[in-house]
Amino acid sequence: MQQNKHIEIVDVSSKSADELRIGGIARFTTIDFPNRLSAVIFIKGCPWRCAYCQNPDLQAREFAPQDERLDWVTIKGFLSTRKGLLDGVVFSGGEPCVDPALNEAVRETKDLGFQVGLHTGGMYPRRVSEILPYLDWVGLDIKAPLSDESAYEKVVGKKEAASHVERTLDMLLQSPVELEVRTTVHPDLLSEEQIAKIADELLAKKVQTFALQVYRQPNGMDESEALPRVGSDYPSEKLITHLSHRFKNFIFRRS
Ligand code: SF4
Repeated sequence: MQQNKHIEIVDVSSKSADELRIGGIARFTTIDFPNRLSAVIFIKGCPWRCAYCQNPDLQAREFAPQDERLDWVTIKGFLSTRKGLLDGVVFSGGEPCVDPALNEAVRETKDLGFQVGLHTGGMYPRRVSEILPYLDWVGLDIKAPLSDESAYEKVVGKKEAASHVERTLDMLLQSPVELEVRTTVHPDLLSEEQIAKIADELLAKKVQTFALQVYRQPNGMDESEALPRVGSDYPSEKLITHLSHRFKNFIFRRS
């Protein structure tokens, strides 16, 4: 059997929001949904295995015995108490689009009067197309040049990923939804030439908002399991300045 082959495992059927597998919640944030006060709901499951993943405990769809179980009824009850206090709710992960209950949860969140944001790696264009009418903002990760499947595979650990992501990106660009494209960079995974290539591809598609975020070691992760820390000379000032002049909105994040 071929190893490491990307299979689109998403269940395209829609399930009750009560079946949403929730791995956690941030009840208040000012940084995850631009210009809105929001809550973030983290969904369990992701088919990819990025070496720089900040939430590896959310990669599995199944709950571990020690996991705190949060159900949608409880989350919805909490959101009901935040009407007028929060502007929006972001569905994040893991990869939220892996969950067949996402559609209903997004609809119910919208019905409560919140704006809805989505963090996604873009591997499930069909799911995104289903919830697109309810979305106000999307943060889409572009992990490597879309024209280079092997570079994409090096980052996400699965084959045939980039073509799915490109379909999602094209769909979002044809819609009125607010879009931030983001790329996490680490010198072991992306050269400066590859970062410039990503930028060229995004500009050719008329992406307006691009965020470059430098890898940081996840809190609490054993240093030996994490990627090496990134020096201050990567990416270079020259590249950052170059990109800042090319995009309408360029955001550089280093923490
Ligand atoms: S796509 Fe996101 S959640 Fe999935 S492994 Fe990569 S960084 Fe982690």
